[in-house]
Amino acid sequence: MHEFSVMSQIIEGLLEESKKWSAVKVEEVFLDLGDFTMLGEEQLKFSYEILSKDTILQGSTLTINHVKGTIECDCGFKGEMSPSEDSPHRIVPILECPKCRGPARIISGRECTIKNLRLVVPDV
Ligand SMILES: [Zn+2]
Repeated sequence: MHEFSVMSQIIEGLLEESKKWSAVKVEEVFLDLGDFTMLGEEQLKFSYEILSKDTILQGSTLTINHVKGTIECDCGFKGEMSPSEDSPHRIVPILECPKCRGPARIISGRECTIKNLRLVVPDV
């Protein structure tokens, strides 16, 4: 399960970040998830639950914000695009410009990053 290894990296980053703030607990985590990552929201949440056990992340909420995929092409086309439905399991989708049928580049939609964190920090 690809989501599991992705999530274990995210958790590592989260724990590091909360340590920087001397947080005693994490309440909510906001994650940006691009359409082109091909990662399943349910699987991510499931992995999060397992991996956050016995850490200060335990019991926190994982809020996933979906980021639409955007592509651009040399012909000037730029727009939103979803990964093609007949190949939902391709990790790197092959993109075709809908205007000229040439190869298009992905501008957004490949991110799987922590956007924000809600921490409980003890009073100093
Ligand atoms: Zn084009």
